Amino acid sequence: MKKIFVYFLALITIPVALQAQKDPIHKFAPLPYAYDALEPYIDKMTMEIHYDKHHRAYYNNFMTAIKGTEMEQTPMLKIFASISTQPVVLRNNAGGYWNHEMFWNCMKSNGGGTPTGKLGDAITSTFGSFDNFKKQFAESGAKRFGSGWAWLVVGADGKLFINSTANQDNPLMNTEEKRGTPILCLDVWEHAYYLKYQNKRGDYISAWWNVVNWDYVQQLYAEALAKK
Ligand code: MN
Repeated sequence: MKKIFVYFLALITIPVALQAQKDPIHKFAPLPYAYDALEPYIDKMTMEIHYDKHHRAYYNNFMTAIKGTEMEQTPMLKIFASISTQPVVLRNNAGGYWNHEMFWNCMKSNGGGTPTGKLGDAITSTFGSFDNFKKQFAESGAKRFGSGWAWLVVGADGKLFINSTANQDNPLMNTEEKRGTPILCLDVWEHAYYLKYQNKRGDYISAWWNVVNWDYVQQLYAEALAKK
């Protein structure tokens, strides 16, 4: 009886583990939902162009940049940990590819709401309230000059912090002053919202909260803490 339960547990755990396992190694993953799944908050055409043109181009350019090097077999986290030694073209495309892969998973149809459990508790104790967290995170994205990302990150001390990065950089890169394990990301490049929201980045960010996949963020949070 006990053995059967363990098998059952393995069966339901494996797909979840695979979902979180980004890029093993350098595989271009399918979008985890349909292009129109995030309507009306993020429109179908934006998703089509963003995933199939922008994301794919970052991936293809990354693969070209590492061709014939040992990085063809190197985990992304290891590449990011020494990205300062790499050419800018590799850094931009490695980040562009990996950040988007995470971004798709941070969203889902019928998402939004409020995170519960340990993540909900940590957000409340770190930022005062969930609303305060949302405000600070949105500001981080809104104030990023030009193109970049907003992140919720688990630091080396296990504590949460909000950060934003320029271009396609991310908190795993050794070029960043504040490093850690990202558990939520928001793309604030104009290509992420311009078709529907034009210059109104704030409106895009407000709408985006309705598609956040908190189950996934909670999962990344648990994994980040487990690595400490
Ligand atoms: Mn993008």
